[in-house]
Amino acid sequence: MDIKINLERLKSDIEELAQIGQDPRGGISRPSFSKSDLEAREWLKEKICQAGLCFRQDGAGNMFGRLGGEGRAVLVGSHIDTVINGGKFDGSAGVLAGLECLRRINEEKLRLAKPLELVSFTDEEGNLVGDFLGSRAFAGLLNREELERGITSFGRPLQEILAGTEFTLESILRAKEERPEVEAFLELHIEQGAVLENESIPIGIVEKIAGKNYRWCSFVGKPDHSGTTPLELRHDAFLATADFALKGTQLVATRHYGSMITIGRVTVQPGSFSVVPGQVDFSLDFRSASSEILEVLEKELLALAEDIASTRGLSFFSRVVDKTEPVKIPPRITEILQEECRKLGYPFLMMTSGAGHDAQIVSLIADSGMIFIPCLDGISHSPQEMIDWGDLEKGANLLLRALIRLAS
Ligand SMILES: [Zn+2]
Repeated sequence: MDIKINLERLKSDIEELAQIGQDPRGGISRPSFSKSDLEAREWLKEKICQAGLCFRQDGAGNMFGRLGGEGRAVLVGSHIDTVINGGKFDGSAGVLAGLECLRRINEEKLRLAKPLELVSFTDEEGNLVGDFLGSRAFAGLLNREELERGITSFGRPLQEILAGTEFTLESILRAKEERPEVEAFLELHIEQGAVLENESIPIGIVEKIAGKNYRWCSFVGKPDHSGTTPLELRHDAFLATADFALKGTQLVATRHYGSMITIGRVTVQPGSFSVVPGQVDFSLDFRSASSEILEVLEKELLALAEDIASTRGLSFFSRVVDKTEPVKIPPRITEILQEECRKLGYPFLMMTSGAGHDAQIVSLIADSGMIFIPCLDGISHSPQEMIDWGDLEKGANLLLRALIRLAS
């Protein structure tokens, strides 16, 4: 069997989709259910139908294109929503590579034992209420309260955003009932890091997806006068935060190398020249591919923060904002990907994904796997996002062969 994808066609699909949602401030802004997203959905629906796939959409706006009849389906896809000022490959490359694979299988009239189904998940980027809205609805992980309470990143409630669409909170919650039986799911995605590029390897086979713990934290001290309060009498919340940032990073680097810690947002109050910072609120993101380490990290980092607070005479508070469990990709999936890579003569690297993906949500209901392709300088979520088309061709050919294996 020497079936290959048509790169020129895949490339032109990616370029065409990239024209929808062009942002005058740069890149593509196509958050789910925005005007540009609704336009992109129409475009994708037409492509699915043109490819001879059977189109359907569930209550969460996840879009499907099925090839073949009844039975447990092998799913392939990703997402077409973007961050604000995003690039043209994150998500879209996976959906359109999946489309190209199904199109080729259909053209060759390959008869496979199981049906194949393309999927494009709604709001992977979390512009609405947390990441992975579509795949979480698909897997049945959402509850009504979360949707009602959720304020979108545009500052408006989800209901208000849905008002301009055919979807409602009820329809999103019903999506799980419309789910087909899933045999397996494969997702091709840009790496969003620079490992493959640095090693000049075209393919990453993901064996683990890191779990994460997002928290909002605060050190609360005392906003004293900066000219009259001696250094030793201060309860400076900024110094406590700086101390925590350094010691926390040292802790992860020395005891749990390979895990990650990031403080990405810091607000200092009252925020003036002449007042010792009385309160600092900051985001804390830590990740690991091992759930045991993730638990240990939580204990150790919180103990460290408490220790710093008591030494410096402050209080420490924190609450969880989001938590996901690490995922181990089943060997039956990674073995197929490795074998097909060898047959195709493509060098590959076994990898851990530090970023979250729809595949990690779908893995809760079916065996799921991921193929990474390099992206230039590891840049993603940016208008500068770029790939080598030859790498995408390899990734899509691998995807094609793995899909055929899984559906045979
Ligand atoms: Zn993505």
